[in-house]
Amino acid sequence: MKYISTRGQSPALSFEETMLTGLAPDGGLYVPETIPAMTADEIAALAGLPYEEIAFRVMRPFIGDSFEDAHFRDLIGKAYAGFGHEARAPLVQLGPNHFLLELFHGPTLAFKDFAMQLIGQLFEDVLTRRGERVTIVGATSGDTGSAAIEAFRGLDAVDVCILYPHGRVSEVQRRQMTTPSEANVHALAVDGDFDDCQAAVKAMFADHAFRDEVRLAAVNSINWARVLAQVVYYFSSAVSLGAPHRQVSFTVPTGNFGDIFAGYIARQMGLPIDRLVIATNRNDILHRTIRDGAYVKEGVEPTISPSMDIQVSSNFERALFDAYGRDAGAVAQLMDELKARGGFPVSQGAIGALRDIYDSGRCSEEETAATITTTFRGTGEIVCPHTAVGIKVAEEQGASATPMITLATAHPAKFPDAVEAATGVHPPLPKRMADLYDRSERVTRVANDLAAIEAVIREKRAK
Ligand SMILES: *Cc1c(COP(=O)(O)O)cnc(C)c1O
Repeated sequence: MKYISTRGQSPALSFEETMLTGLAPDGGLYVPETIPAMTADEIAALAGLPYEEIAFRVMRPFIGDSFEDAHFRDLIGKAYAGFGHEARAPLVQLGPNHFLLELFHGPTLAFKDFAMQLIGQLFEDVLTRRGERVTIVGATSGDTGSAAIEAFRGLDAVDVCILYPHGRVSEVQRRQMTTPSEANVHALAVDGDFDDCQAAVKAMFADHAFRDEVRLAAVNSINWARVLAQVVYYFSSAVSLGAPHRQVSFTVPTGNFGDIFAGYIARQMGLPIDRLVIATNRNDILHRTIRDGAYVKEGVEPTISPSMDIQVSSNFERALFDAYGRDAGAVAQLMDELKARGGFPVSQGAIGALRDIYDSGRCSEEETAATITTTFRGTGEIVCPHTAVGIKVAEEQGASATPMITLATAHPAKFPDAVEAATGVHPPLPKRMADLYDRSERVTRVANDLAAIEAVIREKRAK
C-alpha cells in the first residue's frame, strides 16, 4: 500500500512514512494509491465485534507491512483502553430513524481522541524502533491541542508543545492542556489569537534550521493516519443498524473536512452509505461550495461551535482530488488560484461528482441554540453546540427510510455555557474527570513572537 500526493509532485510513501511526514513536500495531502475494498461478507462479519477488532479489520489493509498483525492489535488496544465507554462509539436514538453516534467518550471528550490516541501509540512505536525522538508542535483553538497532549503525555519518543491563544479557549479546554504533569508535555499560552498560533507553527516549519534542530513533527488533521482512524466508527455504527444489508446515511458537523472525508473512505471501501451530509455553522464555505459550485473564502466569524470556525477546509483538497478524477495537475492549479485569488470555481464534472455523494446544510447561531433546547425537551439528551449543528441539518434532510446517523463530536460538558443557556442544565463532567478543576496547572505564557516561541520550545525540550 503506497500513498501519493494530491498535487502529484512528491514520491509515493509507505503508511509509516506518510504518517511521519504529514504534509507532502509539494504542499499536497497524501491519499492511498488505491482504496482497498471490503466484501459484503467481510462487512457483515463485523457485526457484534468489539470496537478494537473492527478497527483492526478496517485499518489493516491500509498499513501495508508497517506493523505486524499482533502488534497492531496491541497498539489499537492501548489506544482505546482509556475510553469511558465499553462500546467506545455508542449509538443512541433521537427519533424514529435518527441516531446519534457518541464520539465523546475519550479522554478529552471530543471525537479527535479516536485518531489522536491511536496516532500517539503508532508514533511512539515507530520512533522507538527507529531510535528517533521528535518534537510535536501544534496550534489549537481548543480540542486538537488537548487531544494531542492526552495522546502523547508520558511517551518517551516525543515532546509535545501546544500553542493556544491566551484567554481564548474555554476553561475545560485550557485545563485539559495545562494539568497533565508529565515532563514531555508543554502548553504555551500565546499573546495572540488562533491565527497567530497557527502562523507561528507554519513559520517554525519554514525555519529549516530550527525544524532540524528540534526535529519538528506535526499531527494536524491532514495527517492521513488521523483520517484512517476515523473510518472505523462509520463501519461500527452502520453495521449496528444493519449494514451491509441496509443502507445508512451520515450527517457530520464539519470544519476541516477530516471527519466526513473518513466517511467517504468507508463508502469507497464498500460500506453502503447513501448520503454524506456536510453540516456547517455560519462559517459555511463547504455548504456554499456544494450549493453554488464555487469555493470562495470569507472571513471567519466566531460561533458557539468554535471547533468548526474555519475559513479554509484543508482536507477538502482530498475530495477535490477524487472529484477531478485524480488529476493532480488540476488540483495544484486550484490551490494556486485559492492562494492568489481567494477562491475558484469547481468544474461541472467535479461538482456533479461531489453532489452525487455529499449533501450540505448550514445552521445559524440561533438555530444551534434552539436545537440544543428542542433536543433536550424532546429526548432528554444534552448535546454540545457542534452536535446541534449536525442534528439541525440532519432534520432538514427530511424523512427517509434510510437511517440517519448524526455524529456527536463533543461532550456537552466541554461547552457548558452555551449548553446551560439553552437547557437550563449545567452539564456535569464525567466522573472520571470530575477533579479537573482541582488539579494544578502548568503553562508558559509567551509573546506572539517567533523567536520567543522557538526559545521556549528549545528550553522546554532540553529538560
Ligand atoms: C474538530 C471538530 C469538528 C470538526 O471536525 P473536522 O474533521 O475538522 O471537520 C467538529 N466538532 C468538534 C467538537 C471538533 O472538535
